[in-house]
Amino acid sequence: MFSLNYCLQCQKESVLLVCERCLGQIEQVQNSATGPFSYGRYEGVLKNMIHLFKYQNKFALASPLAKLLLDVIPSNVEGIVPVPLHLKKLQERKYNPSAHLGRELSHELSKTIRVPVYLDVLKKTVSTPSQTELSQTERQKNVLGVFGVAQEHKIKGRHILLLDDVYTTGATAEECSRVLKQAGASQISVVTLARS
Ligand SMILES: [Zn+2]
Repeated sequence: MFSLNYCLQCQKESVLLVCERCLGQIEQVQNSATGPFSYGRYEGVLKNMIHLFKYQNKFALASPLAKLLLDVIPSNVEGIVPVPLHLKKLQERKYNPSAHLGRELSHELSKTIRVPVYLDVLKKTVSTPSQTELSQTERQKNVLGVFGVAQEHKIKGRHILLLDDVYTTGATAEECSRVLKQAGASQISVVTLARS
């Protein structure tokens, strides 16, 4: 039996965390063949879901959010690497939403194909100020050289899905892709829930 619940978005009765009607309001964006692959724009229902998930400890949203991603990820990925938080930020925030989403995505995929999530590969070694107020060029400088790779054997020769919540200028994704490739990954596909 389903327990009665309420949609986090519209507060109407729903067995799902976010009801079908609200999910249906999210418009999918067109992605190019090479990515980045995003589900929708960073607005409306999707933006609200990401906010609840990231900042209001609604961990359970990882499941419906991961299910959205199933529609956009390239079919031949071999491993998931979430964009990491610096240890200091991780301690403040208690958890990394992208890591949580990555685990959930791997779980969803496991119904058809085994795609492991690697939480110990990409590390943020330098704590950086928030990107929010920075220009494109400043963002690129801000993230240059702040990521490191460990456990390289896990990604060597593999097609890696780099997972983040929101794609803005792509500075973070580009820098992460660069170090992952340098460490031997054969291909990187950037996947995010939303793009702004
Ligand atoms: Zn709803």
